[in-house]
Amino acid sequence: MDLFKRFKAMQKQQKAYQFVLTVAGWDSNTEAPKKSFPYRAEMLSMISGELFSLSTSEEYQDLVSQLLEQHEELTPRDRLEVMEAKKNLDKIVNVPKDEYVEYTKLVNLSQRAWEDAKANDDYEAFKPYLEKIIAAKRRHIGYRTTRPDKYNVLLDDFEEGMDMEKYDAFFETIKKDLVPFVKDVLKKKRTQPAFATATYPREGQKRFVEYMMKIFDYDFDRGVLKESVHPFTWSTHTQDVRFTVRYLEDQLFSSIFAGAHELGHAIYDLNFDPELDETNLNHGASHGIHESQSRFYENMVARSKPFWKANLDKLKKQFPDQLKDVDVDAFYRAVNAVDETFIRVEADELTYPLHILLRYEIERDIFEGDLNVDDLPDVWNAKMKQYLNLTPKKASDGVLQDVHWSAGMFGYFPTYALGSAYAAQLYYTMKNELDLDTLLKNNDIKTINAWLKDKIHRHAATKKPLELLEMVTGETFNPSYYVRYLKEKYSALY
Ligand SMILES: [Zn+2]
Repeated sequence: MDLFKRFKAMQKQQKAYQFVLTVAGWDSNTEAPKKSFPYRAEMLSMISGELFSLSTSEEYQDLVSQLLEQHEELTPRDRLEVMEAKKNLDKIVNVPKDEYVEYTKLVNLSQRAWEDAKANDDYEAFKPYLEKIIAAKRRHIGYRTTRPDKYNVLLDDFEEGMDMEKYDAFFETIKKDLVPFVKDVLKKKRTQPAFATATYPREGQKRFVEYMMKIFDYDFDRGVLKESVHPFTWSTHTQDVRFTVRYLEDQLFSSIFAGAHELGHAIYDLNFDPELDETNLNHGASHGIHESQSRFYENMVARSKPFWKANLDKLKKQFPDQLKDVDVDAFYRAVNAVDETFIRVEADELTYPLHILLRYEIERDIFEGDLNVDDLPDVWNAKMKQYLNLTPKKASDGVLQDVHWSAGMFGYFPTYALGSAYAAQLYYTMKNELDLDTLLKNNDIKTINAWLKDKIHRHAATKKPLELLEMVTGETFNPSYYVRYLKEKYSALY
């Protein structure tokens, strides 16, 4: 079909621009010298502008509409590509161009204002920007749909198929079943042993992360490991999947578990069906599913006891003095220590979802209730007290800690908790089919990779997240697995 051929040619052109932006972005985040940024920003904004024009051109939009009208003539795979294109178009083309440009500027200014406000613990300085961003988000949704439930539109943008009804049920389960359990665990919290905070030179940490890459069966010919301030994973196609970690000499666990986390993201991307490289479907099924894979490798693999039975000696070879008298039980307890913290990104596996619960309720009440930005710090602190029994003394420990809202990313946070919950549901299915503990004890992570590749990875974005989960686990999304997993693990630990 000629129309589809033209569509593919236009897609390929867009993919070429995306490729250049991704590779240049990787360079910006890993190696580019500081003084290169003004020139770089100018060049890259030219390319982004070109990409925007290409991907919103009238010709392209017409093509997508025509293909949608004739979708019966397309193969199922081709139809999926057209629908993906339509979904992406709907997110951008309805906002008037001058307003879109205005918004891009606002977000840039707002992020800088947020950085300053956070450094000065000055919420009032950030408040006007936040107000404008929320108003802009509301207007943008208004251009796309007349639906009154605006927050659902944002939730669906980050996790297709999820809405307030499903998230409310998910977070209610957490509130009812997990919050009291977390409170009990926190009463029994222990101080960390000295080895948890000893000094671990970066070279040894790096060697251990490289060793993990080997046992996780990462393909070194199709990827690269570098360092960056915030660890991340980026890929352009299945032959090029790169990730970063950082090494903090007083926090050994940080590089190990961020490494395992990013490896989870990377293994997912490496295992997409390579035939999808040529399509717009060569990305994860959703934010939540992507995060389920990173959390699976971080928590169910790397934070498990059998994993350390197999690998603690390897780590000890790098750090014989620091870990001299440490046995597997002590190490396992230390890497799974629970403690309340103000900061989401520093939270342990058990308290983490409570940080997300708080953000979800706030976002929902901003868009659907009557929560005013004036009251945000107080509401934040009250919820922090309610769920974690902590009261932030400064805004940088509370409402100003995350970058997301300054970047207009409302609806994103819930996918973090969802990722862990998906991972738990997958974990119980996997345990029915594989002897997970034995595999981990034998460092046979290849078999785990193969299972996940077959069930999840190879499909890339050809399946919707909830459809994929149901296909693999035989059940719709069921948050009770998450609570069960956490309770089983942490009642044995505390
Ligand atoms: Zn992640």
